[in-house]
Amino acid sequence: MSLNSTNEIDIVKAISSKINDVDFENLSFGSTFTDHMLVCDFKEGHWQKPIIKPYEPFMIDPSAKVFHYGQAIFEGMKAYKGENNSVWLFRPEENLIRFNKSAVRMAMPEVPGSIFIDGLKTILDIERDWVKKGLGNTLYIRPFMIAVGSGVIAQPSTQYRFMIILSPAKSYYSGEVKVIIAEHYSRAANGGIGAAKAAGNYSAQFYPQKLAQEKGFQQIIWTDDATHTKLEEAGTMNVFFRINDTLYTAPTSERILDGVTRKSLIDLAKREGINVDVRSVLVDELIAAAKDGSLKEIFGAGTAAVVSPIVGFQYQGTYYELPKIENSIAMQLKDKLTKIQYKLAEDTFGWTV
Ligand code: PMP
Repeated sequence: MSLNSTNEIDIVKAISSKINDVDFENLSFGSTFTDHMLVCDFKEGHWQKPIIKPYEPFMIDPSAKVFHYGQAIFEGMKAYKGENNSVWLFRPEENLIRFNKSAVRMAMPEVPGSIFIDGLKTILDIERDWVKKGLGNTLYIRPFMIAVGSGVIAQPSTQYRFMIILSPAKSYYSGEVKVIIAEHYSRAANGGIGAAKAAGNYSAQFYPQKLAQEKGFQQIIWTDDATHTKLEEAGTMNVFFRINDTLYTAPTSERILDGVTRKSLIDLAKREGINVDVRSVLVDELIAAAKDGSLKEIFGAGTAAVVSPIVGFQYQGTYYELPKIENSIAMQLKDKLTKIQYKLAEDTFGWTV
């Protein structure tokens, strides 16, 4: 191991790299990690000096609050390789802002940009060989924070650990996606934590998701918890509906995550001259549009898949199949956004860093 530091970050390098043992053609999403991780502890009211060190398990007390009260948040973002081995991030400030919104909602300390963004740039520089060239190849970035303070008493922790781990990924293809519209379970409620990327939001979806999968559906379209009449998100993605030639997506709210892909697609679609209407779509409207043929596309939008087209949906026991569309808006937007991310198209928005 070699130790060197910038003024702000200690760096302990791994003795050898695992990179030659990795089959980059056959990666299963989120299961291979790079050689290093960033760790930064919060104690006595302050963030300590971050350290980048070899990726390894670590110990925490069995009574740590993360295990008992689920004080845990995370982000999901990607790095892309452009020309001349340059490595690019896509709107990382948006992830920092959202991370800190999640932190506030979960009574956790905010992480300064000097740790989140500068730490990320430093670890990416060390791991740049793990970002492979070619469309579809990415390095998935998982910043997260957990409450490590001990004590089985339901109070916010006074000690936290912020970390960044990195996982190489191939383009994400989920296969054919059929969805079921939620009639009973909810992902989020007004006054709840739906707008935060809090760990508990995801574990709370596992059971309804399992029931949906048993019925042959890959995802759930979440509806509002109070009336189950408004369409809100698709699994862990924001959702868009194309009725005739207008794209609809719900406004973000306390129940809906403010997705970076969603807001980028809205801007991109508007630039392309596509009508975008940011408003809630009602289940009844969707059914009517499916019946009269004006419903053309439904797609999820998120960092992992960028865009995930949906082939049909079920509601109250009836399955509605979507038309097969050539040159879909979903795929056009995906192509445009991906090219910006890989610096293959001009980034007139200034999104890439
Ligand atoms: N909604 C939820 C619930 C999510 O977990 C995600 C993934 N972060 C998204 C939407 C999409 O957000 P983004 O485009 O920022 O990945």
